[in-house]
Amino acid sequence: MKHKYIVVTGSLMSGLGKGIITSSILKLLKLYGVNSLPLKFDGYLNYDCGTMNPFRHGEVFVLDDKGEVDMDFGNYERFLNKSMNSKLSITGGKLFSEIIKKERKGEYLGRDVQIIPHVTDYIKERITTVAEQEKLEVLVIEVGGTVGDIENSYFIEAMRQLSLKEEVIFINLTYVPELESVGEQKTKPSQMALRSLMQLGIQPKFVICRSQRPLEKSTREKLALFANLNPERIINDSEIKNIYELPLALISQGFDSMLLKELGISNRKLDKVQLNEWKRFAKFLDNGVKNHARIAVVGKYVELKDSYASVKEALTHAAYANNAKLGIDWIESEDIEDASPEQISKKLGVYGGILVPGGFGSRGIEGMINAIQFARENHKAYLGLCLGMQLMSIEYARNVMGMKGANSSEFNPKTKYEVIGLMEDQKSIKLKGGTMRLGSWPVILKSGTMAYNAYGASKAEERHRHRYEFNNKYKNIFAKNGLVISGMSKDKDIVEIIEWKDHFGIGTQAHPELKSRPEAPAPLFKSFIKAAIENNKTL
Ligand code: GLN
Repeated sequence: MKHKYIVVTGSLMSGLGKGIITSSILKLLKLYGVNSLPLKFDGYLNYDCGTMNPFRHGEVFVLDDKGEVDMDFGNYERFLNKSMNSKLSITGGKLFSEIIKKERKGEYLGRDVQIIPHVTDYIKERITTVAEQEKLEVLVIEVGGTVGDIENSYFIEAMRQLSLKEEVIFINLTYVPELESVGEQKTKPSQMALRSLMQLGIQPKFVICRSQRPLEKSTREKLALFANLNPERIINDSEIKNIYELPLALISQGFDSMLLKELGISNRKLDKVQLNEWKRFAKFLDNGVKNHARIAVVGKYVELKDSYASVKEALTHAAYANNAKLGIDWIESEDIEDASPEQISKKLGVYGGILVPGGFGSRGIEGMINAIQFARENHKAYLGLCLGMQLMSIEYARNVMGMKGANSSEFNPKTKYEVIGLMEDQKSIKLKGGTMRLGSWPVILKSGTMAYNAYGASKAEERHRHRYEFNNKYKNIFAKNGLVISGMSKDKDIVEIIEWKDHFGIGTQAHPELKSRPEAPAPLFKSFIKAAIENNKTL
C-alpha cells in the first residue's frame, strides 16, 4: 500500500494552534473516510513529557499504553474519537537515545555518525514504519516548534528528504498581525517566514493564517504571490469561537476538497451524518441552553489553563451531554489556604460543583482540602481527580473521623495517620522518568454506588498517573464511618473510587478526563455536571 503524508509546520511563533490545525485536518480526513493518524515530533531532549512541569509545558497527557505525551495528543483523540499510541510521539530525546543505542551496538561501525544521513534516515524509517504498521492511507505529521528553530531543523530536513521519494503535502501555519494604529494586515513577517521555509527546500501547498480579522483579499493575494500559490490556498483561521469549529471553518473555505484533490482522492464522499453531529456539538458551545452549571476548579496551576486542558474539555463534553450552559472558574488553591469558613463560603457558594484536579507537591494542598470540606458540608457536587481523590479521603479522615493531622506521606512523611502512602512497588524506584503507575487499568465497580450508576456497568477502564495510593490499613474504618469505597483495581488491591453517601461526591484515583471526547463524554463528568445543575437550581 502506498502511503501519503501531510506535514504541518509553524512559522514565526509558538501558540498559533498547530495542534488544533492538525487535529482538524485529521477530522476532515475522517469525515471523508480516509484512514489516517497523527505523528508528532517535538524537538526537546526530554525522552517524554512525563518529566516536564505542566505550568511551563501544559498538561502531561497519558495514553492507554503508558506513554506520557504532549497535550496535543488530547486534541487528536478528542477530534478523532480514537485512542493513540506512544509510537506516534517522537521527541528529540527518544530519537537520539535510539541513535546512540544503535551506535553502541556497532550498527554504524566504521562511520562517523552524523545528523545527515544517520539521524534523518532514522526519522524517515520511523515514519514510514508507522504508516506501514498502522496501514494508513495518510499520516499527518505535526512538527513541533517553529521553522528556523535549531531544535527541529534536522526533522524538517528529514521531511524534505521524505518528499523526494514519497507523496508529501506541506502545510504551513503562520501569523498575520495587524497594527491597531494602521488598521492594516501586515504580511511581511509571513513573507519572511515563507522565504525561510523555502530556503529549506520546502514548498507548502497551503498556508493557513491566524489573524485577528478575516484575511482581506489583498492580504491573501500578496501572500499567495510569495508562496507560489493560488489565493484560494491561503486559508483563514480567524473566526472560530471554539476549537471544535475549526474543521467547519476549513470546509467553508473549500480546504477539504482542495486537500483531497492534492491527495488524489477527490472521489471520497463526506459523511454528512457525522459532520452534522460534530456541527451540533461545536455550535452548542456558543448557543443558549436550558440548564446551567457553574463549576469551580480548585487547583494550583490555574494561571495557565493549559495545565488542565483535558479537565476543561471533559467538563465541556459533559455539559453538552446534559444540555447545560457551563461556567468554569479557576480558583488558585493557595488563595484559600488561610481563609475562614465565611470567606470560603463567599468565594465558593455560587458554584453547583467543585472539582479538585490532579497534581504533585505540597503547594496549595490545604486550600484544596478546605474546598472539599466546604463541598461536603454544603452539599455541593464534588469530583476529585487523582490528587483530588486522595485529598477527599484526607479531608474525611480529619473532619469526619477525627483523625487530626491525617495526610499523605507525599506532603508530610511524618504524619500520624498516613491515609495516603507511597505504593509498595514505588518504594524501590529511584528513576523519575516513566516510573509512575501509568496507562489504562481496569476498575471494578460496586453495584448500587454512584460510580456504578455513572458508568452503567460493573467495570470501567481509565488512565492513571500516580505514585501514591489509598492506605488499605484504613479501609474498614473509613467504611464504618460512612465513606463508600465503590471501585477497586482489578489487578492489585488499590482503592480506585470513593464516594460520599448522602450527596454527589466522587473521588477517583484515575484521570477520566483523559478519555473524554465530544462523542463519548466521560461518565463521571457527566454525572458530576448533572448533580451540579441540580445544585445550581437551588441557589
Ligand atoms: N501526587 C499524587 C500521586 O503521585 C497524585 C498524582 C496525580 O494527581 N496525578 O499519587
